[in-house]
Amino acid sequence: MTIKDYVSKKKELLKKEVSKLEKKPVLVIIQANDNPASDSYIRGKLKDANEIGIIAKHLKLEPTITEDELLEVIDKLNNDDSVDGLIVQLPLSRQINEEKIKLAVNPEKDVDGFHPLSQLFPCTPKGIVSYLKDLGETIEGKNAVVIGRSNIVGKPMAKLLLKENANVTVLHSKTTFDDMKRYIEMADIIVIAIGKKHFLDHRFNYKKDAVIVDVGINKDETGLHGDALNDLPVRIQTPVPGGVGLLTRLALLENLLEVYKNGISN
Ligand code: NAP
Repeated sequence: MTIKDYVSKKKELLKKEVSKLEKKPVLVIIQANDNPASDSYIRGKLKDANEIGIIAKHLKLEPTITEDELLEVIDKLNNDDSVDGLIVQLPLSRQINEEKIKLAVNPEKDVDGFHPLSQLFPCTPKGIVSYLKDLGETIEGKNAVVIGRSNIVGKPMAKLLLKENANVTVLHSKTTFDDMKRYIEMADIIVIAIGKKHFLDHRFNYKKDAVIVDVGINKDETGLHGDALNDLPVRIQTPVPGGVGLLTRLALLENLLEVYKNGISN
């Protein structure tokens, strides 16, 4: 099954679930930047929410907003009982400390799963692991290599794979090429999130039954490209576009329903 079909199937189930709810879940997306990529991500999130019957609101603020003003907006929404989930779209302008903003979002409404007290995993790792499980892939005991160690993808990805009992190695920009080759050669699951077009290529040897999950999104004049060259000699390779981006969007909807249900049970 393609990722597109998998996501459609899951969205249908979520839609059914939402249709049975008397009060529809409410998501607020705060945008305090002038970033065209953010505009497009937010459009996607609003469209997804709309498709499954979630009420999603886009709160566009001036990119010149101060940190204190943004904190005040977040505080209001944190305390607004009609709001179930809250997202502050990244990146933020230079005058705003991103870490401080992530910590300001009420962990019970943090659908991005960025707050250290959040019970949820960030959407990209969560979406990837759910998909691998749905495919029937074994994670336990497998050699998983995560390339990239950002707070939003690499680190939580490694943590989640570890939770699933994989043997996890995290590689990064200070890893030597020779070491990278050695780890990749032994890997059953490779998740790459570094933002370097076609970094994984024929310089490396892969296990023929390896799974490559390509998180990278690299835009150039020829379109969108992943961090891995297409059609590497492995068993499964997720495409770009039409791959992890869709899984991330799906996981966001799942996280929202989870915070909604937790809100009801509290
Ligand atoms: P990031 O914050 O820029 O982090 C990049 C990571 O890659 C860093 O840990 C860096 O290592 C590592 N790195 C850079 N060059 C490397 C190299 N040559 N070899 C090994 N490691 C290298 O990026 P991010 O936010 O995690 O995003 C990564 C990519 O995923 C981007 O293309 C982004 O657009 C995409 N993305 C996609 C989705 C989706 O839903 N599909 C979601 C999020 C991000 P150091 O720590 O040593 O600097």
